Amino acid sequence: MSASIIDGKALSEAVKSEVSTRVQALKARGITPGLAVVLVGEDPASQVYVRNKAAACEKAGLNSRVIRLDGDITEDALLDIVRELNTDNEIHGILVQLPLPRHMNSARVIETIAAEKDVDGFHISNAGLLMTGQPLFRPCTPYGVMKMLESENVSLWGAEAVVVGASNIVGKPMAMLMLAAGATVTLCNSKTRDLAAQTRRADVLVVATGKPGMVTGDMIKPGATVIDVGINRTEQGKLVGDVDFESAVKVAGRITPVPGGVGPMTIAMLLVNTLEAAERSAA
Ligand code: NDP
Repeated sequence: MSASIIDGKALSEAVKSEVSTRVQALKARGITPGLAVVLVGEDPASQVYVRNKAAACEKAGLNSRVIRLDGDITEDALLDIVRELNTDNEIHGILVQLPLPRHMNSARVIETIAAEKDVDGFHISNAGLLMTGQPLFRPCTPYGVMKMLESENVSLWGAEAVVVGASNIVGKPMAMLMLAAGATVTLCNSKTRDLAAQTRRADVLVVATGKPGMVTGDMIKPGATVIDVGINRTEQGKLVGDVDFESAVKVAGRITPVPGGVGPMTIAMLLVNTLEAAERSAA
């Protein structure tokens, strides 16, 4: 048996084309959705992410404004820039690319973004809304995973869902979204005893640890849906996930590839969140 591959690239194109149609409708009312992306410093991976986000905006008809700042800018100066964007009527979504340089307090920077423009969904009030089942913005990566599960008709109602990795940006919101969809959710971290015993129960297994290939085929329930959020670069420069694809594909029922799985969906959902912020501002 070999799992069917969930094509995140194709699905992301479909989502972006839907966004593009809704952007045209909003433009007809005189509003062009605008996303501001703030990049501090020279982190090479961040530079690529920011470029991709800006290009995706342009292609779908949204405005994007990339604000590149020196790595030694003070936190106060960055906060002033964020506050200006908060009151800028042309900007509906604000994203500060993480990680920030060490001398900055990321939580404070994120809390300074106006919650109604926080298209990453990381602001504490957006995290609270998600937690209480009334999300304003769903964080883009777990939102993209939910979209994938929906498009594959994977029912979460009553299902055993296991999330490996409990970060604020992926694992925790992922668990909340699946819980809200009716799953029984187990959230694992690096302290979990006997991880394989947890993962083997999963009908839906989401892995987001940043540890290349750590989930292997023998840790997967036959026929399970496996979502690999991980993006890791090997010494040879190859992109790999947190799931060992070779062994997992023989056991799973469905699986996402890396690259071409969750990654493209994350950007597509950022466009959805920005569009919806603009639609709300126009309502
Ligand atoms: P973090 O480093 O913030 O969190 C990692 C989580 O994994 C922590 O909760 C940690 O546990 C847990 N963990 C680490 N090792 C193990 C282990 N051996 N067993 C069980 N749990 C473990 O990572 P992120 O959530 O930011 O990112 C995770 C991965 O997803 C990375 O590869 C990242 O590149 C990728 N990513 C991909 C995106 C996409 O668009 N596809 C978007 C964002 C991230 P503990 O809490 O105990 O430390």
